[in-house]
Formats: sequence, C-alpha cells, structure tokens
Amino acid sequence: MSQVIVAGGGLAGSATAIALAQAGRQVTLLEREAAPADKICGEFLSTEAQACLSRLGVDFHKLGGHSITHVRLVRGYQSVAAKLPFEGLGLTRMALDECLLAHASSAGVSVQRGQAIRRISFEGATQVDIDGAAPLNPQTLFLATGKHEVRGARRDATASQLVGFKTYFRLCPAQQAALAAHVELYVFPGGYAGLQLVEGGRANLCFLVEAAMLARAGGKFAVLLDQLQTICPQLGIRLAGAEDLLPAPLTIARVPYGFIHRPQASDPAGMFRLGDQAAVIPSFTGDGMAIALHSATLAADYFLRGKTSAAYHRRFAKDVSGQIRRAAALHMALTAPGLSSVVFAAARLFPRVLALSASLTRVPANRLVPGRQAA
Ligand SMILES: Cc1cc2nc3c(=O)[nH]c(=O)nc-3n(C[C@H](O)[C@H](O)[C@H](O)COP(=O)(O)OP(=O)(O)OC[C@H]3O[C@@H](n4cnc5c(N)ncnc54)[C@H](O)[C@@H]3O)c2cc1C
Repeated sequence: MSQVIVAGGGLAGSATAIALAQAGRQVTLLEREAAPADKICGEFLSTEAQACLSRLGVDFHKLGGHSITHVRLVRGYQSVAAKLPFEGLGLTRMALDECLLAHASSAGVSVQRGQAIRRISFEGATQVDIDGAAPLNPQTLFLATGKHEVRGARRDATASQLVGFKTYFRLCPAQQAALAAHVELYVFPGGYAGLQLVEGGRANLCFLVEAAMLARAGGKFAVLLDQLQTICPQLGIRLAGAEDLLPAPLTIARVPYGFIHRPQASDPAGMFRLGDQAAVIPSFTGDGMAIALHSATLAADYFLRGKTSAAYHRRFAKDVSGQIRRAAALHMALTAPGLSSVVFAAARLFPRVLALSASLTRVPANRLVPGRQAA
C-alpha cells in the first residue's frame, strides 16, 4: 500500500487523514505543534462547517460552543443587526483541532506531533524534510500547512498588507449579556474586527488592520487596541473593565487573501493542496473553515477513486471561486475608505443585506455533498 503523508494537523489535514484512515489507508499526519495551542481565527463556525464536522464525529454538545444567531455591523456609534440565515457557533480552535486530532488517532492515523516540516522537494521522488528527524518519501502528500508557504512548495500568491490579531477577553457581565448570540463586526478605516463569545464564556476579539495603522501605533498591540476603541467607541464599551486572557495576542501577516490554486503542468503529481494551501478566503467575510473541510472531503474522495491531484484542484477551484470572489469584494468594500460608509448605509436601510452577504460568502450547500463527489 502506498505511503500517505498529511502535512499539518489543522482542520483540513485532520479531516483528510480521518477520511483516508476510515477507508483503510495507512496515514501519517505530521503536526508542528507538540501540544494543544491557540490559533489565530475568529472561531465562527458556519452551519456548513458544523455539518462537515458532525459527519466526522465532532460532538458540539460535548465541546460546548456558543450559539450565534445574529450579526451586528458596527461603525462608529451606529449599528445594525440582522438574524443570520443559519445558526453559527463560537468554538475555540484549540478545542476543535484537538478533538479532530484525537478522532484521527482513534481512526488509526499515526499522529506525530512536534514535527515541523522544513522543506519539500520533488526531484524524482517526493521528499519531506523534517526538523531533527529523518526525511520521508511519501508516494502521496496532502499539504495542509495553512496560510503560509512551506519551502519547496511555492504558490502563485500575493501577500496582503493586513496584519491580524486575536486575543480572548472575559467581559464584564452586562457586556457579555449584550454580546450574547451575536457576532459583532466593527468596520473602520483601514480594517475591521470581529467579537463573539466562545465556549466558557470567553470573548474572541480578532481583527485585521493595515500595516500602516500598526506602524502608527508604534508596533505596540496595547496602543493599537486603545486606538481601535477610540475609532470604534462601541468596542470600547464592550471591552470596558474586561480582562485580557492571553499573555500576548496571536498575530499573523502576509496572508494571501483571495488566492486560489489553479493546477499547472509543473505541479508535482501526487501532491494535493488542502485548506488554506489551496485557497484563502478573506477573514470575517468568509467561511475558511468550511472551505478547508470541503477540500478535505473532496481530496480524500478523488484520491480514493484513483483520480489525479490536478483533477481535484480543478474541481476544488470551480467549487469555491465564486464564493471567494464575492468575499473578496465584500472585504474590499469594508476596508476601502469611503466605500465602507456606503456598505453600512445599505445595511442600515436593508438589514437583510447583512443576512444575504452571510449567505453569498458560503460554499453552496449543493457542493457539500458527503461521500462520493461527481468528477
Ligand atoms: C484573522 C483570521 C480570522 C479567521 N476567522 C475565521 C472564522 O471566524 N471562521 C472561519 O470559518 N474561518 C476563519 N478564518 C479562516 C480559517 O482560520 C482557515 O481558513 C482555516 O484554519 C484553514 O484550515 P487549514 O487546516 O487549511 O489550516 P490551519 O488551520 O492553519 O492548520 C494548519 C496546520 O498546519 C500546521 N503547520 C503549519 N506549518 C507546518 C509545518 N511546516 N510543519 C508541520 N505542520 C505545520 C499548523 O500548526 C496547523 O496546525 C480566519 C482566518 C484568519 C487569518
């Protein structure tokens, strides 16, 4: 039987490994983090992502998670709220990713943690070089290492100038009650922020700002957060008296928002790009976790049916390109000076625009067919 390696134990990697192991394949999963870790993510799970995860055996009841039924768009002192067309869930990535890795182990996957892939090469055979370990030569490699490139596996992607931050707060009781069941989106010149509750009553604050805005704050998170609360007074109200629960925020930069991998003749045969390695939807406006899970289902299915990675990449790009285009347009409208006020005015006039935006930036439900996919 051919050796299969899954590189990366996030959602896409674990979901693929589980599907392959359940089909009787021997799978090794390599994950860089040696222990459970927080990840930068808004931690909003759409109904599509929840459905995929339930099929993989994730028990949301057991994991907790905060039910989210409404979206509130906030700009300055003004806000507009609408009911979501589905019920979302706020759940930490630490809880979710650990749950999936445990499922992968139970399904028979050899889960190897603390294994950082340094480089991949394709001269003759595929070779995976790992820090401090012997190289591996899989026949098939599922690359699920997230947003950034691994040496040797370049993508034709352009890095964004936005910088992302995430931290958790314990809000004061009145503000926690006011936030309950809502995902709040704060738009401001040069970026946007999301605030929502996750399991355990913590609030996830995740935001993206232009690099220039961070530079104006002297590169200091505390200063940036103060400035944000001045520009977004409603956020200031939410965070008044709140306790910051992380010693330092998680940060990310150079994310290639809008990237979609289109197969090329030079692509190595036998390498399937998954999740953010295959496509990156703009944060907050999109549905990155559902896309990652969709790539996992599709890639495992194509592989098990003996189809090529090029056929998988073509089909995946077709499935998600419309969604990513719409999300990129919304992303631009929310961050472009002048345009965000128009979007906001439209949402105030027609709150259903908000619910519609949430629907249009999802993977179409008819693409998320479990099991065998049409080629
Ligand atoms: C600021 C921000 C907010 C977001 N908010 C949301 C949201 O609210 N809802 C939503 O649906 N999506 C959201 N997303 C998108 C979502 O986080 C991603 O689309 C999703 O995590 C992709 O899953 P993945 O498995 O491809 O990658 P990841 O979840 O990033 O997993 C990659 C894994 O690979 C491991 N890894 C990385 N490099 C190596 C290496 N060299 N060797 C071995 N292992 C390695 C990592 O440790 C990690 O476990 C957000 C993204 C950003 C940037």
